Amino acid sequence: MDYDCLFCKIIKGDIPSSKVYEDDYVYAFKDINPEAPCHVLVIPKKHIASMDDITPENSEYVSHIFEMIPIIARKGGAENGYRVISNCGKDGGQSVFHLHFHVIGGTELPLHVFPNK
Ligand code: AMP
Ligand code: ZN
Repeated sequence: MDYDCLFCKIIKGDIPSSKVYEDDYVYAFKDINPEAPCHVLVIPKKHIASMDDITPENSEYVSHIFEMIPIIARKGGAENGYRVISNCGKDGGQSVFHLHFHVIGGTELPLHVFPNK
């Protein structure tokens, strides 16, 4: 738990969220500013700042997240597929420094999300 971290506060229940799924390792909730009909944030229940901070000691949280994403995506309303994105660091556009995976779907997504395409 990082007391200055928005997503740690959401896990603790100090800040309200719209929960999609929860277990001992993972918390999933709706993004407050959705970019698609399904836009769920999936986070580890341990403070890991970003993809740069995944280690052999905490990677079980990350592997469990990826085991649960197919279930979370469907619970969040992505029936026919989805996209998983994790923004990392300044150039990656990360704004909240608690590792999170955006699960986006519920509509046919545009093919390219890369610059210059
Ligand atoms: P990123 O820019 O990849 O760090 O993503 C952070 C995401 O957190 C953004 O998509 C925000 O809309 C979302 N967000 C910020 N505050 C909240 C909140 N209180 N509840 C749900 N989502 C949030
Ligand atoms: Zn945190």
